[in-house]
Amino acid sequence: MKTDIQIAKEAKLEKIEKIAEQLNIPEEYLNPYGKYIGKVSSRYYEEIKDNKDGNLILVTAITPTPAGEGKTTTSIGLSMGLNKMGKKSIVALREPSLGPVMGIKGGAAGGGYSQVLPMEDINLHFTGDIHAITTAHNLVSAVIDSHIKFKNDLEIDSTQVFWKRALDMNDRALRNIVVGLGGKTNGLVREDGFIITAASEIMAVLCLSENIDDLKEKLSKIVIARNMDRKPITIGDLKIEGALALILKDALNPNLVQTIDGTPAFIHGGPFANIAHGTNSIIATKMAIKMSDYTVTEAGFGSDLGAEKFLDFVSPNYGLDPKVVVIVATVRALKYHGGMSLKELKKESIYHLRKGLENLRVHIENMRKYDIPVVVAINKFDSDSEEEIQMVENFSEDMGVEVSVNEAFLKGSDGTIDLAEKVVKTVENSNTKFKPIYNPEDDIEEKIEKIATKIYRAGNVEFTLQAKKMIKFFEKYGFDHLPIIIAKTQSSISDDKKKLGAPSGYEFTIRDFELSAGAGFIVALSGEIMRMPGLSKIPNAVNLDIDNEGNIKGLS
Ligand code: ADP
Ligand code: MG
Repeated sequence: MKTDIQIAKEAKLEKIEKIAEQLNIPEEYLNPYGKYIGKVSSRYYEEIKDNKDGNLILVTAITPTPAGEGKTTTSIGLSMGLNKMGKKSIVALREPSLGPVMGIKGGAAGGGYSQVLPMEDINLHFTGDIHAITTAHNLVSAVIDSHIKFKNDLEIDSTQVFWKRALDMNDRALRNIVVGLGGKTNGLVREDGFIITAASEIMAVLCLSENIDDLKEKLSKIVIARNMDRKPITIGDLKIEGALALILKDALNPNLVQTIDGTPAFIHGGPFANIAHGTNSIIATKMAIKMSDYTVTEAGFGSDLGAEKFLDFVSPNYGLDPKVVVIVATVRALKYHGGMSLKELKKESIYHLRKGLENLRVHIENMRKYDIPVVVAINKFDSDSEEEIQMVENFSEDMGVEVSVNEAFLKGSDGTIDLAEKVVKTVENSNTKFKPIYNPEDDIEEKIEKIATKIYRAGNVEFTLQAKKMIKFFEKYGFDHLPIIIAKTQSSISDDKKKLGAPSGYEFTIRDFELSAGAGFIVALSGEIMRMPGLSKIPNAVNLDIDNEGNIKGLS
């Protein structure tokens, strides 16, 4: 089969003005970035906010293997399939982060005949949103160190600065550093570190802001340090939310591109689904809902991470009402959960598949706890046998959910018509309204206990001494009412990445908390959570290349 970049190069792209025309976006609100990419002003939302809402479809997955199971590929294919069957559809996705592009995962613009284009630009610098966020993030760091050097009027405790520096690269050597070396003129010596830009609270804030005023308000609430009396210090105290909003003014506008079928796609914002909420910008999703019959969006990792956050945090707080959840499952990941080693997944094994289906069971049951209808999309790989596919279909049918074999990767929209039809049928026949797992009034422990026992299937939750101290801190300064984002491994339903399949009844531990007061949530940490990934021994970077004719290699 052709590589993703070969397929992408052969596609005939529409000018971005034509894509905007499909959505009736007036010229004044479209800012073209070259021929095939445009930014739609966030102000356009004001013009369309009274339009009727289309249906929102959330794409999630079973517990993934490190390669990803095809949520993005399925989301793009599903949206193309919906358009093909005559429903107006827009896919709204996150923008790729350069770290993973250079690292293990490669690109994040779909794959095969289910891609968003121009994929090489989307995967690289795109419209510079991530660069803008990096710059904004590092302005905060520079102002903090400068403030400390010049008399430190805010009395920032230099050992209690939580705000690290940011870079869009997997660079483990920068996780822990010392800044200010070289004598008095270079500032105060203190420990610091770097996180990857996608993990910056500014990324989360940008993705949750609907306009510039909203962005400024959220930025100003970000807590960056404590002072000598242990009181929280915010970006508002540094008085730079205006400058940050200015740096971010274009980054706030959703990026419009097209799928391989020339249908519209928004690719905007890219927070992680462990330390943040894990979905593209709220403004892009809301615009899409106002401009289409069906908006397809993806939430990161498995349903225990991304979908939980989408249904418990994003939707209730930002007025979204998803109508159906599509769970992407692959035969190879299910066999992995049944105990097969990563290297052997291409071999047929009914035995391992049967065992591994318990993982799919948990994800289906979990989504039902939100009273939202489920459709299972089997993302078909070349190595899957007919018997294996049949087994996943039978299992899903026995659980009473619609199931479709999705061939978006190989056949594009033609491979997703069946899934599109089943999704439409499910939405049209549904009379339930989704409800979150916890109530906003529940206290911090109650919220976490509900998520951990109902979704992660834990027996009980343990809070370490440090975690309890942080709860006291939140109570003292009025942050305890905020929603909870649990940071947990993506490789297991539990807090232990080695527990595959369907673990239950174990003790779930909250080690510590972090505060994202600007984004409006508390992050509960279970286990070690990486804010700065590293490269693997042979990074994807060694596969990437370009020649004199502009031919690109290695992006997928
Ligand atoms: P996710 O969004 O769940 O992380 P992606 O859709 O990005 O997953 O897919 C992960 C990788 O797997 C991508 O490189 C994609 O091209 C590839 N992929 C997805 N589906 C298939 C398939 N059916 N056959 C082969 N490769 C696939
Ligand atoms: Mg994805």
